[in-house]
Amino acid sequence: MATSHFSTQSNPLKVPNLIGGKFIESKSLTFIDVINPATQEVLSQVPLTTNEEFKAAVAAAKKAFPSWRNTPITKRQRVMLKFQELIRRDMDKLALNVTTEQGKTLKDAQGDVFRGLEVVEHACGMATLQMGEYVSNVSHGIDTFSIREPLGVCAGICPFNFPAMIPLWMFPVAVTCGNTFILKPSEKDPGASMLLSQLAMEAGLPEGVLNIVHGAHDTVNAICDHDDIKAISFVGSNVAGMHIYARAAAKGKRVQSNMGAKNHAVVMPDASVDATINALIAAGFGAAGQRCMALSTVVFVGGSKPWESILVERAKALKVNAGTEADADLGPVISIQAKERIHRLIQSGFESGARLLLDGRSIVPGYESGNFIGPTILADVRSDMECYKEEIFGPVLLLTEADSLEEAISFVNENKYGNGATIFTRSGVAARKFQTEIEAGQVGINVPIPVPLPFFSFTGNKASFAGDLNFYGKAGVNFYTQIKTITQNWKDSDSDDKINMAMPTS
Ligand code: NAD
Repeated sequence: MATSHFSTQSNPLKVPNLIGGKFIESKSLTFIDVINPATQEVLSQVPLTTNEEFKAAVAAAKKAFPSWRNTPITKRQRVMLKFQELIRRDMDKLALNVTTEQGKTLKDAQGDVFRGLEVVEHACGMATLQMGEYVSNVSHGIDTFSIREPLGVCAGICPFNFPAMIPLWMFPVAVTCGNTFILKPSEKDPGASMLLSQLAMEAGLPEGVLNIVHGAHDTVNAICDHDDIKAISFVGSNVAGMHIYARAAAKGKRVQSNMGAKNHAVVMPDASVDATINALIAAGFGAAGQRCMALSTVVFVGGSKPWESILVERAKALKVNAGTEADADLGPVISIQAKERIHRLIQSGFESGARLLLDGRSIVPGYESGNFIGPTILADVRSDMECYKEEIFGPVLLLTEADSLEEAISFVNENKYGNGATIFTRSGVAARKFQTEIEAGQVGINVPIPVPLPFFSFTGNKASFAGDLNFYGKAGVNFYTQIKTITQNWKDSDSDDKINMAMPTS
């Protein structure tokens, strides 16, 4: 069934593919339930897009490319200008969808949409971002210039934790550069991508420029293998990210792969108590710890004891509830399996000698079947503990200690991940040493781990990133464009009357 709008006829709603500007119900025999993590209600069903449907989506994107790449950049920007206006108009609807499918609080869901909206706003200035370079007279009468051209069909594979922001890191930049796009949302919460695609088309994105397919491993492998797809943006776990990076590279594609994290805060004894504790609580437990920039480990230089009671007291005061409830500070984690995994890691930390200062393993009255875990704090954590080695991706803060800033920096640098790290201190000397020596790609000084705004790029390091052109900002534009260098010779006299067999020099 093909419709120009996202139909809500079936119950539960069957999430359609978007192929060539039409929302088309999949012929797949296999669907995955999209579940409200606060209630276990089945909200919709997402198909494992069939291979024929996948190929049709790529063919639609390929067909749309020649005309879209030749559409004036000013016109492509204007589509984004309208798109950002429509996202603002539908902010509440988008945020409610994010909360219902992903679980985060409504306020946090608005932030999810807003941080993606900022990338759309940035894409409105693509003409300037995509500008080439020109050097006149590189030799007598010869000029050289470079231009950045779109690649063709690009694809994006998304994680569950930012259902609006992460698709918006990808397709607005790609399409405004002149590419066409295949988006594969997370099978756990595809709703925001579907709503955003409707808005993009309402804003004037021509049919076939943005297509959406669904599924898991098979769809992802099909994206890696298809010869007509030139570039893949991936955000998610290391297992998937490194698999995609290797498989797509073997097919000659460029890949940017943002992956897992274990973000550390180093707290110096001179740090401001209130501001530091509040930052640790917000970044440790916000979004139930399911942010790639969540703070999961705190290294207290000089010992954690003076900080523990106030940390526990403020963490305890947070309200765990369904994200739609007005008083919720943190909502549920994404699935029953995630909840069980997090419980197991808390237990293993405790059994291997960590002190359980706060245990969030409890139920929320009124939402007994929800995947809730309250703020949990484990102290005296060592680097050989499973809870430290694994990315927990839940509301669990690990505390450890170091005798000096040098020791704290070594501890952080020994971790394989390098997404973000932050220091809390009043000393400029300590902050500067940290900023210089820390191996994380995104560094905070007296701020919890910052996600850079779109005029910079998201710059994970070490095992947190594979590729060399990061998401959004200048690097994002470079990722979605191929550089072409042109050398031209326009002389007013015909003076090259001899053959010169030597390597040309000026
Ligand atoms: P995930 O890797 O399970 O899923 C991400 C995507 O990959 C989904 O679309 C899924 O269908 C697909 N996928 C999963 N396993 C696959 C496999 N083996 N082969 C092929 N495709 C596969 O990740 P998630 O649980 O949705 O998201 C959480 C992870 O994402 C965390 O590790 C988090 O740190 C990371 N993350 C990183 C960033 C960042 O910018 N660095 C941002 C957000 C999330």
